[in-house]
Amino acid sequence: MNAAIRPISLTTPFPVGAVNAFLLREDPVTLVDVGPKLPDVWEGLADGLRKAGCEWRDIEFVVVTHPHVDHHGLLPRVLEASGATALVHPDAERRVLTPRLAAESDAMYFEPFLTASGVPEEIRALIAEHQRLLQEYVDGVDEVKTVEIGARLELGGREWRVLDTPGHSSGHLSLFDEEEGDLIAGDHLLPHISSNALLEAPRHPGGERARSLIVYMEALKMVAALPVKTVYPGHGEVFTGAAELVERRLRGYERRCSQLLGWLGERPHTVFELVRRMFPRLSRGNWFLAVSEIVGHLDVLQAQGQVGIEERRGLWYYRVGPGREVRSAAQSG
Ligand SMILES: [Zn+2]
Ligand SMILES: [Zn+2]
Repeated sequence: MNAAIRPISLTTPFPVGAVNAFLLREDPVTLVDVGPKLPDVWEGLADGLRKAGCEWRDIEFVVVTHPHVDHHGLLPRVLEASGATALVHPDAERRVLTPRLAAESDAMYFEPFLTASGVPEEIRALIAEHQRLLQEYVDGVDEVKTVEIGARLELGGREWRVLDTPGHSSGHLSLFDEEEGDLIAGDHLLPHISSNALLEAPRHPGGERARSLIVYMEALKMVAALPVKTVYPGHGEVFTGAAELVERRLRGYERRCSQLLGWLGERPHTVFELVRRMFPRLSRGNWFLAVSEIVGHLDVLQAQGQVGIEERRGLWYYRVGPGREVRSAAQSG
């Protein structure tokens, strides 16, 4: 681990556990991610800076790896204390500036999507409530600076290349120092859990939604091809062996795709029927993750031409072989 990159572990109330911020100690002093909006997290961050011999006003840049509340919730307070400039992926700008508006437009998209996916009303309500509660851990900011993908940024005394690593979240960037082989990866690559490629609403109403798992797998392969030595992840310990981990993850997706294909060979299923079959014992907070997981794998199979969708009584049924396309619904917004 490079001593100039100091992890600051921050506790969160989320199932994923603690989140890592990283302090790049050299000039220009840079903080990567800040944690959710909670008093304890603020204290933890302040404590981490103190231990590194840093003050708030030393920080010149705050990089947000991706627009999830556990990574950028505290941003307004950090910017106010430090006077730093926030750097974000262009596709993350809207969510960092106006997280609540973005969440509202997501909710409007998800309701009919989940209905057609066969998700019962009480579970749709749980999902909506869960998404709404997340907004308590975040505030928007007035201004951010977007960074160009592929740009080289001088941060913490080194040159970092900005990588586009979407899939877990759109607007997800990673920072790569080619000379040292250091990758600050956000949630793109985590050591002990597989990052969820989360279902997302289209960026513009009526547009295409991102095929999260497909773009995630592509971004994983891109990272595996780089000379990465050490990964600084958004959760868990700093680790090595990125390429092997990517291989393992990709094999896991293949296995799950075959399993789904086997079930669809028996009879057509809705997304929710597949969720039930794949995850018979789900806890309250995990419905959205489970739906994302199934939709992601179905997207992969559909892109390979292995499954299609048919609409019956307002529900989308996935079946083996190409179905009648339901462009207006499953395909777009
Ligand atoms: Zn995340
Ligand atoms: Zn996270």
